[in-house]
Amino acid sequence: MIKKNTVVTFNYEVMDDSGTLLEKSSAPALYLHGGYGNVPQHLEQSLEGHEAGEQLQVRVEPGQGFGERDETLVRHELRSKFPEGKLEVGMRVEAQREDNNEPMTFTVTAVSDFGVTLDANHPLAGKTLLFNIEIVEVRPATADEITHGHAHGAGGHHH
Ligand code: ZN
Repeated sequence: MIKKNTVVTFNYEVMDDSGTLLEKSSAPALYLHGGYGNVPQHLEQSLEGHEAGEQLQVRVEPGQGFGERDETLVRHELRSKFPEGKLEVGMRVEAQREDNNEPMTFTVTAVSDFGVTLDANHPLAGKTLLFNIEIVEVRPATADEITHGHAHGAGGHHH
């Protein structure tokens, strides 16, 4: 049963609230359960007490998941500020935040001959998400996993 300090192996699909598939596990994923911040808190609370073999659907509102979008994390730049050559939507680039000049990783969300739009919001921020979760396995966490705050092994962290 899923409770604090268990490691959960699961398959997942993430859809937006119109049912469009956004993301899907290609292999079972692992996480350490118990408030370690490995999965959105509301999702974790919904999984609490469930068993291997169960399937459930969890609805996660923006405030419970990856946060609301932050428009200060969007930058518009001149194309000429970037090296010539390949620059396309979906690429990840390092740039500075507009408000405090902290370096961050941005995703290119639009490119024209003149301008580039960069966005450092989590791609799922601001969206209501439906998670279809299939619980594959639940086991007690090892002492190392609890110390590190994450699951080890295939589908988890590797050191
Ligand atoms: Zn570790």
